[in-house]
Amino acid sequence: MLVDLDAARGRETCLRCLRPLAHCPCAAIVPFPLAFDLALVMHPSERRVPIGTARLAHLAVTGSTLVVTADADAEPRLHRRIDDPHAFPFVLFPPGDGVSTLDLGRATVADARAFFPADRRPLALVPDGTWTTARKLVRESSRLRTLPRVAFAPTDAPIYDRIRKEPHAHCRSTIEAVHALIEHLGRLGVARLPADRAHDQLLGLVRTLVSRQVTFEPESHRGATRGPRSGRPDEGPLGKP
Ligand SMILES: [Zn+2]
Repeated sequence: MLVDLDAARGRETCLRCLRPLAHCPCAAIVPFPLAFDLALVMHPSERRVPIGTARLAHLAVTGSTLVVTADADAEPRLHRRIDDPHAFPFVLFPPGDGVSTLDLGRATVADARAFFPADRRPLALVPDGTWTTARKLVRESSRLRTLPRVAFAPTDAPIYDRIRKEPHAHCRSTIEAVHALIEHLGRLGVARLPADRAHDQLLGLVRTLVSRQVTFEPESHRGATRGPRSGRPDEGPLGKP
């Protein structure tokens, strides 16, 4: 377990976010609800990454689901959520595999209306991992692979880039991608924005994390190369993965 490993290194670990206490941003998290459902599907290799962000997104979004698995098809919790007749499940992932994909950056309100059924609650499934593990999660799951997708090309500057080098300028951490998804769905009239823009704390968490990591980690521990995160296309706005 991560806690034991950290204990062996003589570091105290926060049991909520699983980070060393010196890096723990939990005190800054004020959980907020969304007008859509969120399920984060984390590849097990991410669980030990101290600067991963999916767990923080899960702690911040009330009612969100976090599943750690290399085989999404073997997770009853995911099946239950996907099979909920009142839900409209979709995956934040670049287009491909012959499934319909909405480009959130270019979509109009009418496009979104045609994509999201009005009588079902959107359920965003967000794979979390390196580009390689996130792609494996989706491609090797008969459920995730065949669901509709949404994708977007980030337009703002990445925050996380300072400590975890992304291979392309448009790649983002999972928590930044969740923030952008909330913004897009709000703009398109799919799911209203949280009251008082509570979701902006997600970006605040990334900034806190980055500043603490940069302060505490030696130079040699920074800038581990990342693959593109799911939903952030590999080439151009809707590039092929
Ligand atoms: Zn914590």
